[in-house]
Amino acid sequence: MKFGGTSVGSPSAIKKVGAVVRDAARKNNVAVVVSAFAGVTDALLECLRLAEKNILLSVKKLAVLKRRHLLAVEELVANAARRNEEAAFTEKTFRELTRVLEKVARAKRADDRLRDVGLSAGEILSAHIVAAHIGGTFVDARPLIKTDDSFTNAAVDFAATNTRIRKSFRPSSVIPVITGFIGSTSEGQTTTLGRGGSDYTASIFGAALGVKLIEIWTDVSGIMSADPRIVPTARIIPRVSYDEAVEMAYF
Ligand code: ASP
Ligand code: MG
Repeated sequence: MKFGGTSVGSPSAIKKVGAVVRDAARKNNVAVVVSAFAGVTDALLECLRLAEKNILLSVKKLAVLKRRHLLAVEELVANAARRNEEAAFTEKTFRELTRVLEKVARAKRADDRLRDVGLSAGEILSAHIVAAHIGGTFVDARPLIKTDDSFTNAAVDFAATNTRIRKSFRPSSVIPVITGFIGSTSEGQTTTLGRGGSDYTASIFGAALGVKLIEIWTDVSGIMSADPRIVPTARIIPRVSYDEAVEMAYF
């Protein structure tokens, strides 16, 4: 199962995610794959781009993102000890992100390798926070999903990946919360699977484990007339037939 898509983001939306997961877990073994919170991947891309020319502006934008994640921790993690741990983890992740931005600033360029390292933080943060919220365990997909080195759009090595996923997963009452979108090369360098790749991650895990069902959840309420990242006037279509949906998916 995967929760996230491009727009689950507010603490209230994540509480709904928690309720859906807990409900599903009463009847079945479930694993959750999450994407970054809504808009976070785009914001990180913007920070990386800004760092090429203006590190101060970039770091300022990053601080807004950090505040948003710390607020999510505050609101979503009920257990005090775990809340402190998550806040510390969030701080540490943003310190690492700052170092990535400083590297970009020194090189005056965000190469694809650095970009993938920077972007991976979105999924690492959201999986950590969702895991803490539902009392699950955080799973970093990077050592499990092995890819080539086409950074930003890496191709999965299925033989290596399936073996690793099957070895690492045992049925358990603790719900794994897995980072979507990210993998790593044979040398352990962070890669990403292409924009929107969290759905793909859910399919990779589902196929490797031979699960009965993969569910994709997002809080966009329907099918849009176009990709809203490309067409700003895209809108939700009030009614769509199955055949039309298939045709749109094809395009
Ligand atoms: N966070 C990544 C993106 O925005 C992956 C995803 O959302 O599925 O592309
Ligand atoms: Mg996303």
